[in-house]
Amino acid sequence: MRDINVNEIIDKIEKMCISANCNLNDDIYGRLRECAGCEKSAVGKDILEQCIKNADLAKEKQKPICQDTGMAVIFMEVGQEVHIVGGSLTDAVNEGVRRGYINGYLRKSIVSDPLLRVNTKDNTPAVIHYDIVEGDKIKIDLAPKGFGSENMSKVYMLKPSDGIEGVKNAVIDCIEKAGPNPCPPMVVGVGIGGNFELCAKLAKKALLRPINESSKTEYIADMEKELLERANNLGIGPQGLGGNTTVLGINIETYATHIAGLPLAVNISCHVTRHASCII
Ligand code: SF4
Repeated sequence: MRDINVNEIIDKIEKMCISANCNLNDDIYGRLRECAGCEKSAVGKDILEQCIKNADLAKEKQKPICQDTGMAVIFMEVGQEVHIVGGSLTDAVNEGVRRGYINGYLRKSIVSDPLLRVNTKDNTPAVIHYDIVEGDKIKIDLAPKGFGSENMSKVYMLKPSDGIEGVKNAVIDCIEKAGPNPCPPMVVGVGIGGNFELCAKLAKKALLRPINESSKTEYIADMEKELLERANNLGIGPQGLGGNTTVLGINIETYATHIAGLPLAVNISCHVTRHASCII
Protein backbone atom coordinates (compact mmCIF):
# COMPACT_ATOMS: atom_id res chain seq x y z
CA MET A 1 0.00 0.00 0.00
CA ARG A 2 1.11 3.57 -0.67
CA ASP A 3 0.22 6.28 1.85
CA ILE A 4 -1.14 9.55 0.49
CA ASN A 5 -1.74 12.32 2.99
CA VAL A 6 -4.94 14.36 2.65
CA ASN A 7 -2.87 17.57 2.78
CA GLU A 8 -1.44 16.75 -0.64
CA ILE A 9 -4.95 16.32 -2.05
CA ILE A 10 -6.19 19.57 -0.46
CA ASP A 11 -3.23 21.47 -1.90
CA LYS A 12 -3.65 20.07 -5.42
CA ILE A 13 -7.39 20.73 -5.54
CA GLU A 14 -6.97 24.30 -4.27
CA LYS A 15 -4.50 25.04 -7.07
CA MET A 16 -6.60 23.27 -9.72
CA CYS A 17 -9.74 25.29 -8.82
CA ILE A 18 -7.84 28.53 -9.45
CA SER A 19 -5.95 27.32 -12.51
CA ALA A 20 -9.02 25.81 -14.24
CA ASN A 21 -11.00 29.02 -13.75
CA CYS A 22 -8.26 31.34 -15.02
CA ASN A 23 -6.61 29.38 -17.85
CA LEU A 24 -8.68 28.26 -20.83
CA ASN A 25 -7.45 24.86 -22.04
CA ASP A 26 -5.42 24.85 -25.26
CA ASP A 27 -7.94 22.73 -27.19
CA ILE A 28 -10.82 25.18 -26.62
CA TYR A 29 -8.60 28.23 -27.14
CA GLY A 30 -7.23 26.78 -30.39
CA ARG A 31 -10.72 25.99 -31.71
CA LEU A 32 -11.93 29.51 -30.84
CA ARG A 33 -9.08 30.91 -32.95
CA GLU A 34 -9.83 28.53 -35.82
CA CYS A 35 -13.53 29.46 -35.74
CA ALA A 36 -12.80 33.20 -35.58
CA GLY A 37 -10.95 32.72 -38.85
CA CYS A 38 -13.88 31.06 -40.64
CA GLU A 39 -16.95 32.65 -38.99
CA LYS A 40 -19.09 34.16 -41.77
CA SER A 41 -21.05 36.64 -39.65
CA ALA A 42 -19.18 39.89 -38.89
CA VAL A 43 -20.89 40.15 -35.47
CA GLY A 44 -20.10 36.48 -34.76
CA LYS A 45 -16.45 36.99 -35.69
CA ASP A 46 -16.22 40.02 -33.41
CA ILE A 47 -17.71 38.02 -30.51
CA LEU A 48 -15.24 35.17 -31.04
CA GLU A 49 -12.37 37.64 -31.07
CA GLN A 50 -13.67 39.11 -27.80
CA CYS A 51 -13.81 35.60 -26.29
CA ILE A 52 -10.15 35.10 -27.27
CA LYS A 53 -9.15 38.48 -25.84
CA ASN A 54 -11.05 37.68 -22.65
CA ALA A 55 -9.21 34.34 -22.31
CA ASP A 56 -5.85 36.09 -22.92
CA LEU A 57 -6.58 38.70 -20.24
CA ALA A 58 -7.77 36.06 -17.76
CA LYS A 59 -4.54 34.12 -18.24
CA GLU A 60 -2.31 37.17 -18.01
CA LYS A 61 -3.98 38.59 -14.91
CA GLN A 62 -4.96 35.22 -13.40
CA LYS A 63 -8.58 36.28 -13.09
CA PRO A 64 -11.59 34.03 -13.84
CA ILE A 65 -12.55 33.66 -17.52
CA CYS A 66 -16.23 34.02 -16.54
CA GLN A 67 -18.08 35.44 -13.53
CA ASP A 68 -19.83 32.09 -13.07
CA THR A 69 -16.94 30.07 -11.66
CA GLY A 70 -19.24 27.10 -11.41
CA MET A 71 -19.99 24.16 -9.20
CA ALA A 72 -16.82 22.10 -8.68
CA VAL A 73 -17.25 18.69 -10.30
CA ILE A 74 -14.53 16.19 -9.47
CA PHE A 75 -13.83 12.80 -11.02
CA MET A 76 -11.44 10.79 -8.87
CA GLU A 77 -9.81 7.52 -9.83
CA VAL A 78 -8.44 6.05 -6.63
CA GLY A 79 -5.95 3.19 -6.91
CA GLN A 80 -6.88 0.21 -4.78
CA GLU A 81 -3.31 0.16 -3.41
CA VAL A 82 -3.68 3.67 -1.98
CA HIS A 83 -4.08 4.26 1.76
CA ILE A 84 -5.43 7.74 2.55
CA VAL A 85 -3.92 9.09 5.78
CA GLY A 86 -4.55 12.20 7.86
CA GLY A 87 -8.31 12.42 7.50
CA SER A 88 -11.32 11.76 5.27
CA LEU A 89 -10.89 11.84 1.49
CA THR A 90 -14.22 13.56 0.87
CA ASP A 91 -13.49 16.19 3.53
CA ALA A 92 -10.09 16.79 1.87
CA VAL A 93 -11.68 17.33 -1.56
CA ASN A 94 -14.15 19.83 -0.12
CA GLU A 95 -11.41 21.59 1.85
CA GLY A 96 -9.40 21.98 -1.37
CA VAL A 97 -12.45 23.47 -3.11
CA ARG A 98 -13.12 25.76 -0.13
CA ARG A 99 -9.53 27.09 -0.15
CA GLY A 100 -9.43 27.41 -3.93
CA TYR A 101 -12.62 29.45 -4.13
CA ILE A 102 -11.77 31.64 -1.10
CA ASN A 103 -8.07 32.22 -1.85
CA GLY A 104 -8.66 32.58 -5.60
CA TYR A 105 -11.53 35.09 -5.04
CA LEU A 106 -13.79 32.92 -7.20
CA ARG A 107 -17.56 33.40 -7.04
CA LYS A 108 -19.26 31.24 -4.43
CA SER A 109 -22.35 29.85 -6.13
CA ILE A 110 -23.48 26.91 -4.00
CA VAL A 111 -26.60 26.83 -1.81
CA SER A 112 -26.78 24.18 0.91
CA ASP A 113 -30.37 23.15 0.20
CA PRO A 114 -31.96 23.26 -3.29
CA LEU A 115 -35.21 24.74 -1.97
CA LEU A 116 -34.20 26.78 1.09
CA ARG A 117 -31.30 28.27 -0.92
CA VAL A 118 -28.81 29.59 1.65
CA ASN A 119 -25.33 30.19 0.16
CA THR A 120 -22.60 28.09 1.82
CA LYS A 121 -20.19 31.00 1.13
CA ASP A 122 -17.25 28.74 0.19
CA ASN A 123 -18.57 26.94 -2.93
CA THR A 124 -18.80 23.59 -1.14
CA PRO A 125 -19.90 20.87 -1.31
CA ALA A 126 -18.42 19.69 -4.60
CA VAL A 127 -20.00 16.99 -6.76
CA ILE A 128 -17.56 14.07 -6.46
CA HIS A 129 -17.50 10.89 -8.56
CA TYR A 130 -15.22 8.14 -7.22
CA ASP A 131 -13.93 5.19 -9.18
CA ILE A 132 -11.74 2.51 -7.63
CA VAL A 133 -9.07 1.43 -10.11
CA GLU A 134 -5.93 -0.70 -10.14
CA GLY A 135 -2.62 0.78 -8.92
CA ASP A 136 -1.24 3.04 -6.21
CA LYS A 137 -2.04 6.49 -7.60
CA ILE A 138 -4.92 8.95 -7.51
CA LYS A 139 -6.03 10.73 -10.69
CA ILE A 140 -8.05 13.88 -10.17
CA ASP A 141 -10.01 15.66 -12.90
CA LEU A 142 -11.66 18.88 -11.83
CA ALA A 143 -14.26 20.59 -14.00
CA PRO A 144 -15.95 23.73 -12.64
CA LYS A 145 -19.36 23.87 -14.37
CA GLY A 146 -21.45 27.00 -14.83
CA PHE A 147 -25.21 26.62 -14.72
CA GLY A 148 -26.25 28.81 -17.66
CA SER A 149 -25.23 25.85 -19.77
CA GLU A 150 -25.96 23.10 -17.21
CA ASN A 151 -29.62 24.19 -17.16
CA MET A 152 -29.89 23.49 -20.91
CA SER A 153 -28.84 19.82 -20.52
CA LYS A 154 -31.26 16.92 -20.95
CA VAL A 155 -31.73 13.19 -20.42
CA TYR A 156 -33.74 11.24 -23.03
CA MET A 157 -34.89 7.69 -22.30
CA LEU A 158 -35.09 6.61 -25.95
CA LYS A 159 -36.34 3.24 -27.19
CA PRO A 160 -33.94 0.83 -28.94
CA SER A 161 -36.03 1.28 -32.10
CA ASP A 162 -35.15 5.00 -32.12
CA GLY A 163 -31.65 3.87 -33.14
CA ILE A 164 -28.74 6.01 -34.22
CA GLU A 165 -30.98 8.50 -36.07
CA GLY A 166 -33.09 8.98 -32.93
CA VAL A 167 -29.95 9.71 -30.92
CA LYS A 168 -28.62 12.20 -33.47
CA ASN A 169 -31.97 14.01 -33.72
CA ALA A 170 -32.27 14.28 -29.93
CA VAL A 171 -28.76 15.77 -29.62
CA ILE A 172 -29.51 18.36 -32.31
CA ASP A 173 -32.93 19.08 -30.75
CA CYS A 174 -31.24 19.74 -27.38
CA ILE A 175 -28.69 22.12 -28.94
CA GLU A 176 -31.39 23.93 -30.93
CA LYS A 177 -33.63 24.37 -27.86
CA ALA A 178 -30.63 25.64 -25.83
CA GLY A 179 -30.23 28.43 -28.42
CA PRO A 180 -28.49 31.51 -27.00
CA ASN A 181 -28.90 30.52 -23.33
CA PRO A 182 -25.62 28.62 -22.76
CA CYS A 183 -23.41 31.45 -24.14
CA PRO A 184 -22.56 29.76 -27.45
CA PRO A 185 -20.31 28.64 -28.96
CA MET A 186 -21.03 25.53 -26.90
CA VAL A 187 -19.11 22.38 -26.11
CA VAL A 188 -21.43 19.36 -25.96
CA GLY A 189 -20.88 16.18 -23.94
CA VAL A 190 -23.04 13.20 -24.91
CA GLY A 191 -23.50 9.98 -22.93
CA ILE A 192 -25.17 7.01 -24.62
CA GLY A 193 -26.03 3.78 -22.80
CA GLY A 194 -25.84 2.64 -19.20
CA ASN A 195 -29.02 3.61 -17.38
CA PHE A 196 -30.76 6.81 -16.25
CA GLU A 197 -27.98 8.07 -13.98
CA LEU A 198 -24.96 6.62 -15.77
CA CYS A 199 -25.72 8.26 -19.12
CA ALA A 200 -25.69 11.67 -17.39
CA LYS A 201 -22.34 10.88 -15.76
CA LEU A 202 -20.95 9.77 -19.14
CA ALA A 203 -22.11 13.02 -20.75
CA LYS A 204 -20.35 15.01 -18.04
CA LYS A 205 -17.20 12.90 -18.40
CA ALA A 206 -17.26 13.42 -22.17
CA LEU A 207 -16.61 17.13 -21.51
CA LEU A 208 -13.22 16.23 -20.01
CA ARG A 209 -11.88 14.90 -23.31
CA PRO A 210 -10.06 17.57 -25.37
CA ILE A 211 -12.30 18.63 -28.27
CA ASN A 212 -9.50 17.99 -30.76
CA GLU A 213 -9.47 14.28 -29.83
CA SER A 214 -12.11 12.10 -31.49
CA SER A 215 -13.64 8.99 -29.97
CA LYS A 216 -11.48 5.91 -30.45
CA THR A 217 -14.55 4.02 -31.73
CA GLU A 218 -14.77 4.72 -35.45
CA TYR A 219 -18.54 4.96 -35.87
CA ILE A 220 -18.80 7.19 -32.78
CA ALA A 221 -16.02 9.44 -34.13
CA ASP A 222 -18.03 9.71 -37.38
CA MET A 223 -21.14 10.61 -35.38
CA GLU A 224 -19.22 13.33 -33.48
CA LYS A 225 -18.10 14.83 -36.77
CA GLU A 226 -21.55 14.68 -38.39
CA LEU A 227 -23.29 16.17 -35.34
CA LEU A 228 -20.76 19.01 -35.15
CA GLU A 229 -21.47 19.89 -38.77
CA ARG A 230 -25.26 19.69 -38.29
CA ALA A 231 -25.09 21.81 -35.12
CA ASN A 232 -23.05 24.49 -36.86
CA ASN A 233 -25.60 24.63 -39.66
CA LEU A 234 -28.34 25.60 -37.17
CA GLY A 235 -27.34 29.27 -37.50
CA ILE A 236 -27.48 30.04 -33.76
CA GLY A 237 -23.94 31.46 -33.86
CA PRO A 238 -21.75 33.12 -31.21
CA GLN A 239 -23.89 34.35 -28.27
CA GLY A 240 -26.97 33.39 -30.32
CA LEU A 241 -26.61 36.37 -32.67
CA GLY A 242 -26.30 34.26 -35.82
CA GLY A 243 -23.40 32.64 -37.60
CA ASN A 244 -21.80 29.32 -38.40
CA THR A 245 -20.02 28.82 -35.05
CA THR A 246 -22.62 27.37 -32.69
CA VAL A 247 -20.66 24.43 -31.27
CA LEU A 248 -16.88 24.08 -30.84
CA GLY A 249 -16.86 20.36 -30.23
CA ILE A 250 -19.08 17.35 -29.52
CA ASN A 251 -17.66 14.45 -27.50
CA ILE A 252 -19.55 11.18 -27.10
CA GLU A 253 -18.96 8.45 -24.50
CA THR A 254 -20.81 5.13 -24.52
CA TYR A 255 -21.47 2.18 -22.19
CA ALA A 256 -23.35 -1.12 -22.32
CA THR A 257 -27.09 -0.90 -21.74
CA HIS A 258 -30.26 -3.00 -21.24
CA ILE A 259 -32.01 -4.74 -24.17
CA ALA A 260 -35.15 -2.64 -23.55
CA GLY A 261 -33.54 0.82 -23.50
CA LEU A 262 -31.40 3.46 -25.16
CA PRO A 263 -30.58 6.09 -22.53
CA LEU A 264 -29.09 9.33 -23.81
CA ALA A 265 -27.85 12.40 -21.96
CA VAL A 266 -26.71 15.68 -23.46
CA ASN A 267 -24.62 17.88 -21.18
CA ILE A 268 -24.40 21.33 -22.67
CA SER A 269 -21.34 23.41 -21.82
CA CYS A 270 -20.10 26.75 -23.09
CA HIS A 271 -16.97 28.31 -24.60
CA VAL A 272 -15.70 28.47 -20.99
CA THR A 273 -15.52 24.69 -20.64
CA ARG A 274 -12.90 24.26 -17.94
CA HIS A 275 -10.93 21.35 -16.63
CA ALA A 276 -7.67 20.63 -14.87
CA SER A 277 -6.17 17.29 -13.93
CA CYS A 278 -3.32 15.80 -11.94
CA ILE A 279 -1.98 12.47 -10.79
CA ILE A 280 -0.72 11.96 -7.26
S1 SF4 B 1 -22.73 29.50 -19.67
FE1 SF4 B 1 -20.46 29.60 -19.54
S2 SF4 B 1 -19.89 31.63 -20.32
FE2 SF4 B 1 -22.09 31.65 -19.85
S3 SF4 B 1 -22.24 32.46 -17.75
FE3 SF4 B 1 -22.18 30.21 -17.60
S4 SF4 B 1 -20.01 29.67 -17.33
FE4 SF4 B 1 -20.10 31.79 -18.09
